[in-house]
Amino acid sequence: MFVDVDGTLLEFMPSPNDPKVTNETRALLLRAHIALEGAVALVSGRSIDQLDLMFAPLRLPAAGQHGQERRLSDGSMSGAVTPGAVLDPARHRLRKFLRKVPGVLLEEKTMGLALHFRRVPGVEDKVVNEAISAAAELGDGVEIQLGSMVVELKAGRVNKASAVAAFMDEPPFTGRVPVFIGDDLTDVGALEWVAAHGGLAVAVGTRVRAPYWLDDSGAVHAWLMEFVAAIENEPGNGG
Ligand SMILES: [Mg+2]
Repeated sequence: MFVDVDGTLLEFMPSPNDPKVTNETRALLLRAHIALEGAVALVSGRSIDQLDLMFAPLRLPAAGQHGQERRLSDGSMSGAVTPGAVLDPARHRLRKFLRKVPGVLLEEKTMGLALHFRRVPGVEDKVVNEAISAAAELGDGVEIQLGSMVVELKAGRVNKASAVAAFMDEPPFTGRVPVFIGDDLTDVGALEWVAAHGGLAVAVGTRVRAPYWLDDSGAVHAWLMEFVAAIENEPGNGG
């Protein structure tokens, strides 16, 4: 079970710092973790450090920064593919750009630089062009990822799909039916990967399409609740 966070598990908020994780959500994830014998991972554009702060005391297997970093089910970290230092020249350039375009937010991660323009949607073209120019200066090994009201420069050639594929090669995920739930353009690759590997690809909202869909994060909660309860009530699960 692979679950995106913002817009999927949590309601989409106007600023990346806003969403609050409720104890109800923590309890749901914990129940899923137990019912699926540990095979639940968060797959997010946020860093794993951020996810840990938000979901504490839970520390689930996770893919952070669109797959740039992964925490395996034994708690160990898989090594980053490309050092984030490759982004440093763009970091400098984008900080200067921000001064010219008020309202745009630069989120600096170790393996990515994200320009959020949710507060000023009118500047999308300007921001995307700047991100493309900045990436072009850096050459190979840097990718552009367009999300909803965000464009991100990413170091390395990994993404949510490659993160899901890597998890599926490891216990306790390997040999199981993959489920991916996501709401955003950054989830498309993982949704396609899961659908192509006999799994359940679930789109949330109207931004992306998949064989299955749910309306919003409320519907995600309700569905997960039913899913977990069904497993808990299977004969032989002690319920
Ligand atoms: Mg999302």
